[in-house]
Amino acid sequence: MKKDKSEKLFEKAKNYFPGGVNSPVRAFRSVGGTPLFIERGKGSHIWDADGNEYIDFCCSWGPLILGHANPKVVDAIKKTVEKGSSFGAPTELENKLAELILTNNKFIEKIRFVSSGTEAVMSAIRLARGFTKRNKILKFEGCYHGHSDSLLVKAGSGLVTFGNTSSAGVPEAFVNETIVCPLNNKDAVKEAFSKFKNEIACIIIEPIPANNGLLLQDKDYIQFLHDICTENKSLLIFDEVISGFRIGFTGAAGHYNIRPDIITYGKIIGGGLPVGAYGASAEIMNHISPEGNVYQAGTLSGNPVAMAAGIAQLTECLKPGFYASLERKTQFLIEEINKLQGIIPITIGKKLQVKIFSIGSIFWIAFSDKEKIQSAEEIAADSIKHFRKMHHALLEHGVYFGPSGYEVSFVSKAHTVEDLRKSAEVIGKILKNIHSVENM
Ligand SMILES: *Cc1c(COP(=O)(O)O)cnc(C)c1O
Repeated sequence: MKKDKSEKLFEKAKNYFPGGVNSPVRAFRSVGGTPLFIERGKGSHIWDADGNEYIDFCCSWGPLILGHANPKVVDAIKKTVEKGSSFGAPTELENKLAELILTNNKFIEKIRFVSSGTEAVMSAIRLARGFTKRNKILKFEGCYHGHSDSLLVKAGSGLVTFGNTSSAGVPEAFVNETIVCPLNNKDAVKEAFSKFKNEIACIIIEPIPANNGLLLQDKDYIQFLHDICTENKSLLIFDEVISGFRIGFTGAAGHYNIRPDIITYGKIIGGGLPVGAYGASAEIMNHISPEGNVYQAGTLSGNPVAMAAGIAQLTECLKPGFYASLERKTQFLIEEINKLQGIIPITIGKKLQVKIFSIGSIFWIAFSDKEKIQSAEEIAADSIKHFRKMHHALLEHGVYFGPSGYEVSFVSKAHTVEDLRKSAEVIGKILKNIHSVENM
């Protein structure tokens, strides 16, 4: 596999950007080696600067549910940008995207567009605090919510803790307002609410945690979180930046049929352009300025080109059978991999070494023999070592996964049965040989 051009570009990039990148995971630190510089994408395939071709299961970390350079999305972007790229004034396209979302999603009544998932979550937290007039927030170890100060906090030791900051530069004062609990543990949440009675503004959770492996929760647990928030007059925030428009059009809220108080979106909503959003009941949303006193603004918020891309993409997502077809394809891929790696998950007495967890069109290869993995601490420490080997072998054979074992993979509308069969063959063989792969 030729890498000269990527290597040269990376050397240059290191002079310009910290670590040579504009977002840390791209640097390949967790898998080792040089990041591939991508030149173009079409459908389910991408090509790097050296001309190597890959079947892509990263899909820009989730946004590209239709695959790369979908003609409808590209057309919408071109047509819109020719009329001007930004006005800092309202445009009809914002109404159109909002209408498309709100008329097809019974869980929210009003929405506000921002420019990233981080911004959506940061604003939702401020809204929850402004609405409840409380300061503390409760989050979970194993969920990611972007890089705003309040949320760069990880668990300390103990069941209910004020976390430790997971980044330098986050003041202690922020950390002291963020309570961190393990996932899938009701007692921890109960303890937090009794310890901090009337102080907790909100619980924030990825209802389908997909940023630290795929830690699928039981509906019963999510319902419990909903109920304990109601009892304590705290708000429940679903961070659906990954799951929104991915697990069906109405995301995890629709999947569980549970109505949180606020939902955040990102990734898919912008059709590959930078868009985030948060939505809630009209009553809660009316606390946002200029209607209410919770301030939040953005020069490029509701950007027309990004709105047009979002409209084009979500219109496709709304077509009948769209999500069922994606899920079928994902199951097909997983079954083919399992066949090839010689692991039939139901075989009694045969120890599973690899288990593929999935929901909708998200999947995650776990190097574990556990039937369920529902919290961060259940992920085996050496699984990352296995992932690193697998990742390199996959690249050699033309299959691109995001360069981190904690990240999930995505199947898009553009993946063909042929893509999936070919990928399954590569993945299955590599998994089967994962120990010999150690020597590759
Ligand atoms: C990706 C992600 C974010 C952050 O979104 P950015 O657009 O990267 O700022 C927040 N929450 C969840 C659940 C995410 O998956």
